[in-house]
Order: sequence, then structure tokens, then C-alpha cells
Amino acid sequence: MESTISGNISNVKERIAAACERAGRDPKEVTLIAVSKLKPFEDIMEAKNAGATDFGENYVQELVEKIGKNSETCGEATPTVRWHMIGHLQKNKVKYLIGQTALIHSVDSLFLAEQIEKELAKKDEITRILLEVNVAEEESKWGFTTESVKEAAAEIGKLPHVRVLGLMTSAPITEDPESNRVYFRKLNELAHEMLKENLLVKDPSFSCPVLSMGMTGDFEVAVEEGATMVRVGTAIFGKR
Ligand SMILES: *Cc1c(COP(=O)(O)O)cnc(C)c1O
Repeated sequence: MESTISGNISNVKERIAAACERAGRDPKEVTLIAVSKLKPFEDIMEAKNAGATDFGENYVQELVEKIGKNSETCGEATPTVRWHMIGHLQKNKVKYLIGQTALIHSVDSLFLAEQIEKELAKKDEITRILLEVNVAEEESKWGFTTESVKEAAAEIGKLPHVRVLGLMTSAPITEDPESNRVYFRKLNELAHEMLKENLLVKDPSFSCPVLSMGMTGDFEVAVEEGATMVRVGTAIFGKR
């Protein structure tokens, strides 16, 4: 019998494909990140069996525990899973994260980027990051403003162990996804400007520039506006 999670993943993938079709895009450009925060490891196993390859988590401790369980259960025979840190990151947690993630989406200050650099330098490792932008200028949200992100990217670009591949945003929670279109479009324009100005780095394993935007309530609009990564939790794993 098909699990609910597996049915949900097929449904979300079909909706992504339909949004790509409307926008004249290739669905291969869009990575679905299954946001498994606060959900048990069994759900991740189920999603993996249904073909999910990328998982997003918000809390460092939970992320590290799940990564540990994943390698215990699966050993080396399993297809590789890519882990994404998408939640606000505290500086004292950075050291636990180094070397564990494909991408850190939620770099929201120069100070945090410098902490990441410091930990990376100790281990001589490189990490790929996105800069979080609070496009809608919500009081409650972390992130750079659209005005400050370029200057920050220029500084962060000088740090030898981090690679800034693109931008991430969480648009306002809304009943009407159309109302977020303007923010997704703005982030897309900003990322392309930054690419031209050499403020972003190209990495062969990711679409360029990386645009991480769109959640359960608005991922189709985000895909129509150029998202290369959508972060979907509720529509895959159910309510938290
Ligand atoms: C929880 C979370 C998501 C997923 O949200 P859903 O609405 O459940 O799809 C995506 N991005 C971030 C940053 C989150 O914290």
C-alpha cells in the first residue's frame, strides 16, 4: 500500500511540474526539500523510500541526531541524502553543523558568517551557504534587508571558506499565495543582479543562482517566479 507520505510527495512533485510547465521551466531545475523538522526519523525513512533526496531541518541538535541515525540505519549502501539547515542559527551551535550539510540556507548576519568561517578554518573545510533576505520586511523575521544584502555579500565573499551560492526567503504566512508573488519576483531579480556583480559563486552541483523560496502555502507561485529550491513540510509530513 502506498504510504501517505509517499502519496504526498508524488502530489507535491506533480504540482511543481505543473508550475514549471506554466512558467516554461524544466522541472529538473527545482529541488524539492522535504522539511522534516519536529517529525520522527521514521517519517524521513518513509520519504526516502518514496524518492526524497533532500531534507530540511531547523534545529541543529535535531539535525545532527537525524544525520547520525541515518548513517547508522543505512551505512554506506544507501543513496546519498543531502541535509539542509533552514532555521535560524545561533553562533554557539555552528561548530556542530560544520561538515554535515549540503547547504546552510539561513545565514542572516555578517557576524554569523564570520563564526561559520572561524569554525571552518579550524577544520580546513569549505561550506556552501545562502543569505536569508527578509524581502517583505516583516518585524518577526530574521534576514538581511534587500538594501543591505549586497554589501554583506561583498564582505562574506572575502571569507575564504564559505561560498555564497544564492538567496533564501520565507514569505509571509498568507491565505492567498498570489500576494507573495511580488516578494519571490523581487528575490529573483536581486539574485540575478548579484550574480552579474560577482557577489554569488557558481557551484556545479546546484542551479545558479540558488533561489530557496516557497513553502506549503505558496511553493507553486515561487516556482513560477524562479525558485530552484522549495522547502515543503506540512504538505508532505502533515501538521506539526
Ligand atoms: C518550517 C519551515 C518550512 C516548511 O513549512 P511548511 O509550511 O510546513 O511547508 C520552510 N522553511 C522554513 C524556514 C521553515 O522553518
